[in-house]
Amino acid sequence: MSTAASVLERCAALGRVSEEPERLVRRYATPAMREAYELVGGWMRDAGLVVREDAAGNLIGRRDGPGRTLVLGSHLDTVVDAGRYDGPLGVLAAIAVLERMWDRALPYAVEVIAFADEEGVRYGTTFLGSSAVAGRFAPAWLALADDDGVTMADALRAFGGDPDAIASAALRGEDLLGYVEVHIEQGPVLERRGAPVGLVTTITGQTHAEVGFLGEAGHAGTVPMNARRDALAAAAEWIVAVEAVARRRQGTVATVGMIEVDPGARNVIPGAARMTLDVRHTSNAVRREAIADLRAEAQRIAASREVELDWDARGETAAVPTSPDLADRLADAIEAAGHAPERLASGAGHDAVAMAALTEIAMLFVRCERGISHNPAEAVAEADVAVALDVLERFLGDLA
Ligand SMILES: [Zn+2]
Repeated sequence: MSTAASVLERCAALGRVSEEPERLVRRYATPAMREAYELVGGWMRDAGLVVREDAAGNLIGRRDGPGRTLVLGSHLDTVVDAGRYDGPLGVLAAIAVLERMWDRALPYAVEVIAFADEEGVRYGTTFLGSSAVAGRFAPAWLALADDDGVTMADALRAFGGDPDAIASAALRGEDLLGYVEVHIEQGPVLERRGAPVGLVTTITGQTHAEVGFLGEAGHAGTVPMNARRDALAAAAEWIVAVEAVARRRQGTVATVGMIEVDPGARNVIPGAARMTLDVRHTSNAVRREAIADLRAEAQRIAASREVELDWDARGETAAVPTSPDLADRLADAIEAAGHAPERLASGAGHDAVAMAALTEIAMLFVRCERGISHNPAEAVAEADVAVALDVLERFLGDLA
């Protein structure tokens, strides 16, 4: 069996390790995650890696070497009703390449980190595992409770981690050569370009907000059209403006993904409409300009319709550039493997965002079918995985 086929077989085996029988869901510090660690830890040992778990519950396989350490990794947790490649592919690709290179001397050490929680499904804490490794774990997270009332501290203790020693999970930036993550693209760009793999230039920044229009509820039959303060009609006008503003600014993506209407009845004029807003761009300046435009549009619409605007900023993350040096080395490896080094931005967040606080980062994207992810239909081609493995192997060899 080819290495790529074996990686896909392992992805399939991991895809069967779930908290639920009918769909894949594997959250932080659950028995399903423990079962996944048994499998992945075994594969790490087969590849000659020395296996340990840190206090935050991350699974780590180390290959010793002189000098500094290169970190390879991705996450083993999933969203609810997940596909089998988002996360595990990066972990299993790293293990497979190191297994293939076991008899080759490298002048540096390598650690494969399988992060315990990236999606944040159980506690709402995105990049939890990599934040601990990067020394950015917020102690207050330990008090968060999941839907069953189990605190993170208790879950971690039951899992075998140590909530009192989270700080010990942090690596030191000066000990590291960098962090390289293989991940499915989760978008259609590589497929459109006809490329099996691509290297990430920037992980886009994000702004989140909750936006509400507050009008006045009334009888759908008796209030004339010119006397209405319809919150949902205001929201509808604004949602169309969101799309238009994003289309005007090259590279901007803006999404209203949820809307709640109050009171929500056939025969009642909507008194309130509340929405989520998600805006992303590789340039922090362009993203902030887009947000300012969207807010101005919302104010204009609210004023003209005599409804109130409630704009609740829910935070932003800055765009994270990848290392030009590591990206060039990845580009060389892609060319050496016989492919054009396609460069693209990542619209999704990744563990690399947290790791960027610690060390230089690079990401290799693998084309996925129709760009679908966070969905059981997630699919990658064996030939593309073979290219990714080849590229990673060349990259590791050249880094020597
Ligand atoms: Zn992922």
